Amino acid sequence: MDSYAELCDAYSRHVNPSFVKLLNVFGYGRRVTGARGVTVVDEQGKSYVDAIAGFGSINLGHNPPRLVAALHAALDAAPYRFLHFAPCETAAACAQALTRRMGAPFERVTFVNTGSDAVEAAMKLAVLATGRDRFVHAAGGYHGLGFGALSLMGHERMRKPFKGLITPQTAVPWNDLEALRRALAKKTVAAVVLEPLQAEGGVRLPAPGYLDAALRLCRETGTLLVLDEIQTGLGRLGSWFAYEQMREPPDVVVLAKALSGGMVPIGAMVTTRALHDKAFGKMDRFDLCSSTFAGHPLACRAALETLAIIEDDGLVARSREQGARLLARLRAATAGHPLVADVRGEGLLIGIEIGATGQGVLGRVAPGLVNKMSQVALGQWLAFRLLEAGCLVQTAAHRWDVLKIEPPLVLDDADADRIVEAVKSVLTDHQSVPRMVTAMTRQMHRQRKHADAHAPA
Ligand code: PLP
Repeated sequence: MDSYAELCDAYSRHVNPSFVKLLNVFGYGRRVTGARGVTVVDEQGKSYVDAIAGFGSINLGHNPPRLVAALHAALDAAPYRFLHFAPCETAAACAQALTRRMGAPFERVTFVNTGSDAVEAAMKLAVLATGRDRFVHAAGGYHGLGFGALSLMGHERMRKPFKGLITPQTAVPWNDLEALRRALAKKTVAAVVLEPLQAEGGVRLPAPGYLDAALRLCRETGTLLVLDEIQTGLGRLGSWFAYEQMREPPDVVVLAKALSGGMVPIGAMVTTRALHDKAFGKMDRFDLCSSTFAGHPLACRAALETLAIIEDDGLVARSREQGARLLARLRAATAGHPLVADVRGEGLLIGIEIGATGQGVLGRVAPGLVNKMSQVALGQWLAFRLLEAGCLVQTAAHRWDVLKIEPPLVLDDADADRIVEAVKSVLTDHQSVPRMVTAMTRQMHRQRKHADAHAPA
């Protein structure tokens, strides 16, 4: 495949034509030829600072040399072992390193292949350990697209086609402890599943004390608290794990994405010995959360090396320090902008919320309309303009009015400068909603025509 057109053609024919069309209509269509650290390069030689980082997977940056070398060495080691009739040494070592890093009470790791699998492993554990089968989650959360994980998400577009197959669970508003208390009162809930900060829900932070109080309510009602750290864990928020900021750890933590540096698929459900024994501690239950590739030696080798790199390179502190500076600089760069409603975040997970601020004619006269337009289109338009300005960002999955800034943790001052400069210049160019809508409509029309003309026959 020598050209972008050939790539689109093959991908459209054999993988996912709607995805290719969407990319091209939104103007993302380009062929990436290189990625190293925080920088991505396209075939025109244009370079981009990556502030998406595989939705929080590429915490070590793209193609981190030490991790790549470790994977080469693992593949070269003879004999390479992928067997199922003996415990896997690499999986044991990885689980040991991970639980040592997490500390008491965490002692058992169930390896899986994705974040969604990890959430579902936690759901199975909760059912078996409590003898209950109901779940509570927070509206706006993102937990994955398997049928179990999807039943914990309120995203209508993703749920609707499968309505008959998912079991709706109780959603409580984020940060609403009274609603949580009511939902748990009957003591019929196996687990509450929460993110410590809702990333895809629009970078929504927990209110002070919310997670501690949620854990207390769980303890009082015999309910487990599952903390979904799939996007927030492994340094992203400026601590190894977000639960370290709680008074007491939760019962279960689920991880994926950055656990293997984004190089090999992996997920993990981490819990205590007592809960794991209660759920799976019989021989006829040993495989209730298993899959062929779970605990694959290459994935576990990648995770082992990733844990060591985060530690040796001081990436947790770097995330905390770079994140605090970047947040302050983004706030300063966007202060007073008529369409920046908020800039918030923790560590290197920052959200810029686009919406009415009471400034500008339309914002004053029709703030609801400005907010609606931001949710439907303006956020995506700004993300596209940022791409053109050399900065890769995406909107949060459930909140298209929030631009998510989530660069690799290896970000340095020069990378941070590039992000701030791009945000500043794009937002300076976009202060008026009517002008933005005109420019967007014109460009989308052009791109749609182009995408239609180049769609495979
Ligand atoms: N949980 C959270 C917090 C996530 O952000 C995601 C993915 O973005 C998932 C779960 C699902 O992970 P995966 O896409 O690997 O299934």
